Amino acid sequence: MQHPPKGLSVDSITPRSRPGSSGIAETAATSTELSTLLADAAALPIRDIRTIDRQRVLIVAPHPDDETLGCGGAIALLADKGYDLQVLVISDGTGSHPNSQTHPAPVLESIRSQETIAALGILGVDPASITFLQLKDGAIPTITAPEFHAAKLLCRNYLQVIEPDTIFLPWRLDPHPDHRATWQLIQAAILSLEMMPQVIEYPIWDWDISQQTTADLSHITGWRLDIQSVLIQKTQALESYRSQLGQLIDDDPHGFCLTAEMLVNFTRPWEVYFEEMI
Ligand SMILES: [Zn+2]
Repeated sequence: MQHPPKGLSVDSITPRSRPGSSGIAETAATSTELSTLLADAAALPIRDIRTIDRQRVLIVAPHPDDETLGCGGAIALLADKGYDLQVLVISDGTGSHPNSQTHPAPVLESIRSQETIAALGILGVDPASITFLQLKDGAIPTITAPEFHAAKLLCRNYLQVIEPDTIFLPWRLDPHPDHRATWQLIQAAILSLEMMPQVIEYPIWDWDISQQTTADLSHITGWRLDIQSVLIQKTQALESYRSQLGQLIDDDPHGFCLTAEMLVNFTRPWEVYFEEMI
């Protein structure tokens, strides 16, 4: 997750439309602003997990914890149904406590990856299915950065091996630049491979009203996934992230901490997702 810096612009890549996305049109709820969608999230239509009918699913997280915060319920439901689940964590997570003396970057990176493995274990994902790309936290290259091409190639090589047919990405306009960069990297890699996966996007920082971006979202549909049956699992998985819950590192007053106020948005009996309308 990690606090986003303020006042950043939004970059964009135009994703390739994917044909044959069944079940979207009849449940579509459209809006011109994300704030409207999220303010009334409880009114978004519920979609059944079985509408994700293709079995090779990739969850992409900018930081170690975003996969559980945004998609923990979906992961648990898909794992329970025996889907082939892979998780790709893009950054090394070392930006959450940059001033800690007791937990310098190498230690923090190790702790955060172990937390991810523990959380995903609770959700039913095998450690062998988790990949840490280890890009620098806070510096995932956006499309205008010189390092973007090299990072895209890493993602491209990974996708070529995994061959996912459904990909969960952070919401493309998330206020956090690492989240937007993650979307841009994976979208660019998808385009370069001419893959046509179903792309499902999850909000993280847009839940914070003060951080929300404004854009024309008339081509976006929002829906909810009922995760009541796995909510305890998700909550337990989130508890694995002790370093992000203020339970482990106490020597960095500027360190990141998931507050109870933030967690409210990620511990509801449903998760919110967005998709491009076809
Ligand atoms: Zn994040």
